[in-house]
Formats: sequence, structure tokens, C-alpha cells
Amino acid sequence: MKNRKNLGINSKLNHPETPELVQGNRPLISPIYHSAKFTPSEDHPYWDQFMYSRVANPTNRELEMTLAELQKREDCLVVASGIAALTGVFLSLLKSGDHIITFRELYKPSRIFIRDYLPRYNIEHSLLTLTQLKDLEAAIIPGKTKLIHFESPTNPNLEIADIEYILKIAKKHGVLVSMDGTFAGLHQHTQFDVDIMIHSLTKYGNGHGDVIAGCISGRKELMKTVRDVGLYLGAHLDPQAAGLIQRGLKTYMLRYERQTQTAAKIAHFLSQHPRVKKVYYPGLENHRHHELAKKQMSDMGAVVSFEILPEVAANAAKFCHSLELIFLTASVGSTESIICPTLMFFGTDLPESEREGMGMNAYSVRLSVGLEDADDLIEDLNKALG
Ligand SMILES: *Cc1c(COP(=O)(O)O)cnc(C)c1O
Repeated sequence: MKNRKNLGINSKLNHPETPELVQGNRPLISPIYHSAKFTPSEDHPYWDQFMYSRVANPTNRELEMTLAELQKREDCLVVASGIAALTGVFLSLLKSGDHIITFRELYKPSRIFIRDYLPRYNIEHSLLTLTQLKDLEAAIIPGKTKLIHFESPTNPNLEIADIEYILKIAKKHGVLVSMDGTFAGLHQHTQFDVDIMIHSLTKYGNGHGDVIAGCISGRKELMKTVRDVGLYLGAHLDPQAAGLIQRGLKTYMLRYERQTQTAAKIAHFLSQHPRVKKVYYPGLENHRHHELAKKQMSDMGAVVSFEILPEVAANAAKFCHSLELIFLTASVGSTESIICPTLMFFGTDLPESEREGMGMNAYSVRLSVGLEDADDLIEDLNKALG
């Protein structure tokens, strides 16, 4: 601004002076650009620059570049939640008349969106089961099936998908594959040529339980379609939230490593406890997909699901409330340990005949292990188990 001196006070207040940094003088930690708008330089094409933060924002872009690097993908888009990432992928890659194949072992809101919302747009689905992948090829409808979507490990009971097999069938038929890798974390499964990777950053990515966010990653050309639609769906991430996630990511590997170590100890403790009926943790040798998990994953994660005997508590919720250090709530991957009843939280939309087969009943719980001392957590569980 050339002549500030002559401006009135309201003009001055609405155009504050900003400190100029000399070239090369830069903050070591990036500032958070909360500005909704940027004024472009006349010397460059407008649309190569930041203009409006729903479309692109430097803080979000830094996070996207970090995430793409971590996931070994060409590009990444951050959005307002994990669910916004999932619905964004489905709505951008599918159109009326298409067919999607997915599995009943899905995070409940994803299952409900595919099963109950997509048909409104004339997008049909097949709901298979991850433990019967041999049905996959027969479910492909030539010319109609556009996408196979799966989770691994699944929420809440940590089934493992055979990713190599899914990719083989999909490639053979020219079908795209999207994977929700939230339960594995961002650093895993990068070796697989999955077309679209989806994560809830609310979980391990941010890791501190104070942000809701999600991301979508993949090849540049495919991400262009996803990004364009993101623009019209309006599910962009708030830059303040992006800044918190960027900070959370600095300790991502340290947190993940420690949480996995403690989770393994707890899974082992639970599997030996006489009042625990069943433990679901891919790191345990008796997990039905232990070998597959070892082949696909470097770390087994912080989530341990298990079933208590009816003599322990009237139901899963009562058991959760009887813990003192571990609180009953939603979410996983946070620095504090949290627990929830799985049927009440994730299974009520399923037919009763299917719930038991998926390990969800009145006595099943999902525990997400935080950064507390392992001995304290084990003592808390031991006391509540009686
Ligand atoms: C939590 C979760 C989501 C949804 O993420 P939000 O950030 O809560 O919207 C999606 N998939 C899985 C596997 C999850 O655990």
C-alpha cells in the first residue's frame, strides 16, 4: 500500500501492515495460512496460484505433500473427515449405472453410505465378505463394475484383506481399487499398487484426539478427478486443523512404534486371561490371518479387539465403564487408551445372523492402545476382568 498515512482508521484496520521477510529469511516451522483468499501475482497465470482456500491453501498443501511422501503416492488431497474422503472418492469415481464391490466388514458409516445412499444415485453394489475372496471375481459385472473398495485391517475386528489377490482380480478386469488403510496407519501398505488410498487422519495421523480430518492419495491423473470433485463437494480441511496434523505427524512413527509395542503386550496378556473368550489382534499367532498380516504389514497397530466372558460384566458397555484409566469413547489411534462396545457402535445396522460371525456381540469390545505405561493399562484391564 503506497500511502497508508492518508487512510482513515477503518481502512487501516482492514488492511493491516504485514512484516516483509527478506529473501531467505523464513520460519523453520511454517505459519498457518488461515486466509480464505489470496491475491494473485499479475506475473503468473491466476489458476497456478493460491486464490481461494476451499480449492487450495498453502498449509493444506504442505500437509498433502508430507502425506504423499509418507504414503509413497504421487499426490494427496486432505479433506474435512475420513468419511468425507470416502464419500468424495465414491462420488468422484462413480456415476449413475455403475457398480461397486465392497465387503460387509467395513466401518459402519462407509457400509451405510454404499448400501443406503449410493443407490439413490443409481449406483449399485455387491456386499461380499473378506473371508470369502473367492467370490470376488464372479461378482464383477463386465462394463458396470468400476471400483472395489475394502479396509485392512477392518474396523472393529481386524480382519486382514489379501491385497495382492484383490489387485490381481481387479487389474485383470480393469477395475479400480480403493483401500481404507486407517487401521494400519499411513506408513503401511505403500508397496501395493492400490489406485486410491483413503485414511481418517483423525486417528493415527493427527494422533492427539483433537482434530477430525481425512485424506485421499493416489496417482496424479486419478487424483485430478478426485480433487476437482472435492472442489464442488466443499469438504475442504480447515488450515488450523491441517497445522495441528502437520505437528502431530512429527511424532507419528514414534507414537506408532510405542503404541504397537504396548498393544502387542496387552494382546498377549488378554489371550492368556481365563475370563477373556477371544482376542482379535493380527500380531497374535492364532489370528486367522496372522501369516497374511506378517506378509503385508510391518507393524500390527494399536487396536486390540476382544470378547469377555458373560461372568465379567452384564454387557460390554458395563465392562468399559468399570475401567479407570481407559475411557469409553469412539475413535482409535490417540495418545490416550480408549475402548468401546463393538456391537453398539458398529454392528446395529447388520442383520443379527451376520453380527456373531463378524465377532460382534453383547460382550465384544474394541480397545485402542495409547501411550500410557503398559503395566498400568494391564493392571486396569486385569482389575476390571476380576
Ligand atoms: C474413523 C474411521 C473412518 C472415518 O473417519 P472420520 O475421520 O471419523 O470421518 C473411516 N474409516 C475407518 C476405518 C475409520 O476407523
